Amino acid sequence: MKKKSREENSDGFFGDFGGSIVPPELADVLEELKQAFYEIKDNPEFKEELAYLFKDYVGKPSPLYFAKSLTEEAGGAKIYLKREDLNHTGAHKINNCIGQALLARKMGKKRIIAETGAGQHGVATATACALFDMDCIIYMGEVDTKRQALNVFRMELLGAEVKPVTAGDGTLKDAVDEALKDFVQHADDTFYMLGSAVGPDPYPTMVKEFQSVIGREARSQILEKESKLPDYIVACVGGGSNAIGLFAPFVDDEEVNILGIEPGGTGDKPGQNAAPLTYGKPGELHGFKSYVLYEDGDVISHTHSIAAGLDYPGVGPEHSYLKDSGRAKYTTASDQEALDAFHLLSEKEGIIPALESAHAIAGGMKVAADLDEDQIVIINLSGRGDKDVAQIKELHENGKLK
Ligand SMILES: *Cc1c(COP(=O)(O)O)cnc(C)c1O
Repeated sequence: MKKKSREENSDGFFGDFGGSIVPPELADVLEELKQAFYEIKDNPEFKEELAYLFKDYVGKPSPLYFAKSLTEEAGGAKIYLKREDLNHTGAHKINNCIGQALLARKMGKKRIIAETGAGQHGVATATACALFDMDCIIYMGEVDTKRQALNVFRMELLGAEVKPVTAGDGTLKDAVDEALKDFVQHADDTFYMLGSAVGPDPYPTMVKEFQSVIGREARSQILEKESKLPDYIVACVGGGSNAIGLFAPFVDDEEVNILGIEPGGTGDKPGQNAAPLTYGKPGELHGFKSYVLYEDGDVISHTHSIAAGLDYPGVGPEHSYLKDSGRAKYTTASDQEALDAFHLLSEKEGIIPALESAHAIAGGMKVAADLDEDQIVIINLSGRGDKDVAQIKELHENGKLK
């Protein structure tokens, strides 16, 4: 009998994690999406168009850059950076948005909705919608719309409508709830473009599919440059999309060590970090099972990270599975370590990283320092830091930087 590939095994579970724990109305909509995704994803025409847009619109392949100065600074293994920061719109998020927009078009859906926290996924979604001439509605917590006024304006420039959400704390979680409500109400013409490898099935699998371009490129690039696979691959983990995108094409290469870096924030107490794989326990959030951060027993914890894009109490279910199976390891980088890495990469390599990606730089340098100089570490530079410059400036002016 033909061996069932991981892809065909589409029950949405990764070991005990994942699944789809949603009300019946939403289950129907998700089933339609899932059918369409599995029907379309290997269609040659779809793949060809996606490859074309990745190349000529996003600017792929993103380079795999040997960071000589960073390597000398760490004093161990050779460090390569996967330059997802050079993508159009400045991060990996566009890979997923282009993939999902193309799927939406094939499904005949012309109205796109999405949630956004800091605004990065909102901007990438609005970009894809402008390209495909689709209506775009972005749900964003009201508090976040004020904190990220410039991103709200960017989305509006791109033709999107931003709907502030006042329910709850007026932040990301509330925006997700509103988007899901909209999705159920307008299922016939609406496509919900989820921004990370989280949520109910099929989203974690679908987002992985579109982000795996990162790992596929990195794998062939390192083979070309070094004629061998890397000893370590490292990425930051918020919801986990850039990480699973890098990791997935290497999972079967047992000699490659896989390391995810969670935001350690200011400490190990509830509310001080956003590191569920390090400090959380298995639970349930937004319709799927995964490691989740709790406080006071079973209340979903408040979270903190200096990087808004990593500030989420849950994590993609496949990372929970990779952790429990031992295939990947997860550790943290603190706010301060990320800030140090942010400045170091800026000064030593002339690359200002996103604060999210700076966590991966911090964690990857630690690993590299303990390896020999003929070994190789690939760090995913998930995004550029232009969006963070104002925040860093304020920290400097308030004397909050060491
Ligand atoms: C959003 C974002 C992240 C975190 O999201 P993942 O789904 O964990 O990848 C990381 N880096 C950058 C630059 C981001 O914008």
